[in-house]
Amino acid sequence: MAGYDYDLFVIGGGSGGVRGARMAAGTGAKVAIAESYRYGGTCVIRGCVPKKLLSYASHFHEDFEDAAGFGWTVPQPSFDWAKLIANKDKEIDRLEGVYEKLLKGAGVEFYHGHARLLDAHTVEVGEQRFTAKIILIATGGAPSFPMEPGWEHGISSNEAFHLEELPKRVVIYGGGFIAVEFAGIFNGLGSEVTQVYRGPQILRGFDDDIRNTLAGEIVKKGVNLVVETTIDRIEKREKDLLVHLSDGSEVECDLVMAATGRSPNVHNLGLEEVGVELARNGAIKVDEFSKTTVDNIYAVGDVTDRINLTPVAIQEAMAFVDTVYRDTPRAMDHADVPSAVFSHPPVGTVGLTELQARERHGALDIYRSTFRPLKHTLSGRDEKTMMKLIVAKDTQRVVGVHMVGLDAPEIVQGMAVAIKAGATKQVFDATVGIHPTAAEEFVTMREPIPGDQAKAAE
Ligand code: NDP
Repeated sequence: MAGYDYDLFVIGGGSGGVRGARMAAGTGAKVAIAESYRYGGTCVIRGCVPKKLLSYASHFHEDFEDAAGFGWTVPQPSFDWAKLIANKDKEIDRLEGVYEKLLKGAGVEFYHGHARLLDAHTVEVGEQRFTAKIILIATGGAPSFPMEPGWEHGISSNEAFHLEELPKRVVIYGGGFIAVEFAGIFNGLGSEVTQVYRGPQILRGFDDDIRNTLAGEIVKKGVNLVVETTIDRIEKREKDLLVHLSDGSEVECDLVMAATGRSPNVHNLGLEEVGVELARNGAIKVDEFSKTTVDNIYAVGDVTDRINLTPVAIQEAMAFVDTVYRDTPRAMDHADVPSAVFSHPPVGTVGLTELQARERHGALDIYRSTFRPLKHTLSGRDEKTMMKLIVAKDTQRVVGVHMVGLDAPEIVQGMAVAIKAGATKQVFDATVGIHPTAAEEFVTMREPIPGDQAKAAE
């Protein structure tokens, strides 16, 4: 490490940065990390974790209703938003402490403050300057707002976690992960929700059967889903907001939330000055080993805009450590990354959509099952589960697994192992189901859909 303060300086204390720092320190490297907000990053502080806690909270609404079919009499439940937020904040504080403790335990020196590069080996954090042999940038992303007038009156998901009260009427803009999840959260907690999306169907990029099934379910649950429409303008009125839509209609509401994508956090890091090239959307360009266009500077996670998911950032960070500190160069495998949308009901997916599979593999066998889950035979709830397997006809490899329904993310995580292992339909068929579960359907679907397989379920 001749001449440098540290072997590694990590900028950004989210999932990718913290994992990279800890693992590198574990190899004996001298490591420092800087974070300008709170250790834990988007996922822990204002993303996955608090979102899932709010999602649990919003599901109780249906759980109380469903209990009646099982013989329970539940007194009229009431909900306290302030209590939920306070409890959630307490848990997030605890997790932030855990992250700092993990860094400390690994011997990583950590700093609070905005870090920027002065040259390829020098980092400035506030008044302090440090030199490092290697720099890892893991600064994540931040919500991006639409350009139309009036968005200064709107919020992003960042603020949604700290609202003083539960809004009575909410407009959510977007059709992606965050829009769908928050539409479910606010709807479940009792707000009147209008979700406005510019395209013909929510969750662009997902399998059409997932998109159509989920859209049908969320509408049944009461979300007013408005597609092929944009927000032209937001008008602030004395007591509320008036949202002007492109079809000429207006929606009165108390809160407007943009869920229109996230942009890489590259502002004021000194990147371009030291020669780190950015893509047109601001993402840091990296090779398969997460190395930037500067030899000693690496980047992982959302700031590189590859697959913007916490477990991906963590794996990219671990591959970086193997490559740089363990002398075992390794590129992260971005194929068959499973993901979930914590909507109501939730989505779980891994592998190719039907359209992607058709492009890549040609002829397919498609297996699909849509049914009412056992729980809802007694609860009486009109909620469907949809499960789908996409099989390449020639090799019989299962190349896509998709599910909308109770426990979908938990079920599809297991399926992802099979997909990664290259399982064929015959392996699925030879697997014994667990009865009675919804998951067993994945190993008991015997007949492919005849006829026009590209036609999605309505
Ligand atoms: P997404 O990219 O998923 O969705 C953005 C949505 O906003 C799309 O529907 C897009 O439409 C629309 N949109 C984009 N720009 C505009 C615009 N100018 N005007 C109107 N609509 C617009 O982003 P999110 O913000 O929902 O989430 C960001 C990322 O965070 C996700 O991609 C995901 O990687 C991650 N995430 C993962 C979660 C999970 O794993 N459960 C949960 C939350 C976030 P169109 O489709 O037409 O482009």
